[in-house]
Amino acid sequence: MRIKKYLKLLLIFLVVLLGILYLRSNKEKPMKMNNPHNVKGVVSYKRSFNDLNEEQLAAAKRWGIRPIESREDAKHLGKKLVEIKTCEAYKVDSLTHSIPYLVPRAAKLLKEIGENFQDSLSHKGINPNQIIVTSVLRTQGDQKRLRRGNRNATENSAHAYATTFDISHKRFQKLEDPKGYPTEDANPVHLKMVLSEVLRDLKKAKKCLVKYELKQGCFHITVQ
Ligand SMILES: [Zn+2]
Repeated sequence: MRIKKYLKLLLIFLVVLLGILYLRSNKEKPMKMNNPHNVKGVVSYKRSFNDLNEEQLAAAKRWGIRPIESREDAKHLGKKLVEIKTCEAYKVDSLTHSIPYLVPRAAKLLKEIGENFQDSLSHKGINPNQIIVTSVLRTQGDQKRLRRGNRNATENSAHAYATTFDISHKRFQKLEDPKGYPTEDANPVHLKMVLSEVLRDLKKAKKCLVKYELKQGCFHITVQ
C-alpha cells in the first residue's frame, strides 16, 4: 500500500514538473523588430546601374567560357565552371531558362555580394535576409527558348559566358533567427536600397558591371 502511495505522489510530481517545463518552453519570446538606420540607397536605379549589353559582353568574353550548346556540354568543362548552390550567402531560385554554373571569378563575386548584403543589413538594423539568384548560365538552347517569350533576351547575351547572373530586386529570402526568436519582416524597399548600395560599391571598385532591369525585376551583373 505504501509503495503505491509513493508511486502516486511521484507520478503527480512528474506531471507537475513536466507541466512547468512545458509552460516555460512556450513562454513567448519577444519579437526582434527592425530598426533601420543609415539606409540611403542610390539616387536613381536606372542611372546608377546602366552598364549596357555591349560593355557587359566585352567583359563576359574576356573572363568567360566559350558559349555552349547544351546542358550536357557544361559537364565537360571541369574546373572552368563552379556549381552555384543555395548557401549562407545566397539562395538560388528554381531556374527554368538557365543552369547554375559560373566561372570561379563570377562565383566569387556572387558570394561577395551576398555576404556584403547580409553584413550591411546587420549594420543597418535590418533583420537577416538573403539575395535570390534568378538566372545564371544560359546555353544556346536556353537562349533560343527564352527569345521566343521575351524580346528583351538579346541575341548575344552575357549569360552565355558563365560570367553573368541576375539577382532579384523584388524578392528576398528571409532568414529565421537561429534561436527561434520571431522576427519582424523587413521592408522590401529597404532591402532593395541596401542591395543597391552594395552593388554601387562593388561597381566603383571595378569588380562588376550592373544593369538595372525594371521589367525582369532584377539586377543583371557581369564580373569585371
Ligand atoms: Zn540577366
